[in-house]
Amino acid sequence: MDDRLREELRAWLEFYRELGIEDFYRREPGAREPSVSLLPAKPVPAAAAPLPKLSPPPAAPPRPTVTAMPPRPVAPAAPAAAVIQPPVSSLSLFETPAAPRSGPETLAQIRDDLGDCHRCKLAPTRKTIVFGDGNPHAALVFVGEGPGADEDEQGLPFVGRAGKLLTRMIQAIGMKREEVYICNIVKCRPPGNRTPEKDEVEACSPFLYRQIEAIRPRLVCCLGAPAVRTVLGIKEGITKIRGRFYDFASTKALATVHPAYILRNPREEKILREDFEKIREFLQGA
Ligand code: SF4
Repeated sequence: MDDRLREELRAWLEFYRELGIEDFYRREPGAREPSVSLLPAKPVPAAAAPLPKLSPPPAAPPRPTVTAMPPRPVAPAAPAAAVIQPPVSSLSLFETPAAPRSGPETLAQIRDDLGDCHRCKLAPTRKTIVFGDGNPHAALVFVGEGPGADEDEQGLPFVGRAGKLLTRMIQAIGMKREEVYICNIVKCRPPGNRTPEKDEVEACSPFLYRQIEAIRPRLVCCLGAPAVRTVLGIKEGITKIRGRFYDFASTKALATVHPAYILRNPREEKILREDFEKIREFLQGA
């Protein structure tokens, strides 16, 4: 500020003080009238006092050079408070958690799951569900077609005439019946001992597969064409494919005729003996 301007300014300040006006405020050009506030006014530095309009205001002091500062690290926003919901299947304090399942399920678990089954139309005419019988850790599993009248009565597989022939064959290869496991593709007797129908097999065979998975035998012996179709998916005639081994899951399967066929065709017993001899060789060599 030059001397002349400083002198003029001082003269104007004295003039206003004589009039009783003591406080002076500087208003930036273009600034609006301050709104009335109930807050106490902030002290204004003297240098900011308004200039009278006698002469252009002194040039504003140069603004300090603004140095670009590195951006301040922005604190990560606090995560919204998560609402933790208990899992739907969580247990209450009054429930006992089930033991973790390891390995295949047991035959008893599968039987429990089957329950008083009505999954197919064989249920109304059956007397008993014939689930299966034998060693739950057997190396050899026999799969037949379905329960007959004797089996329906007793609740056990292969206990009629065909069953007695099967037992003889098992003994002929040096095994006991209790050492093997015997079951069927359907667990309820089809009326009149007819062949199980497609929908009945579809409803029941998952339980058969689970039984085999639970036992994990070294060999599954399919007795008759329906068992071969269900287990191996082979539709050729049984007399063509019998006596052969097939891959089945992680084990092997052998197809042979149903003992009931031998009862009707006694001269064919030798083919059953031949196939049982292959079973013996397989189990001894495995
Ligand atoms: S045959 Fe099998 S699926 Fe059908 S009712 Fe009997 S157990 Fe259930």
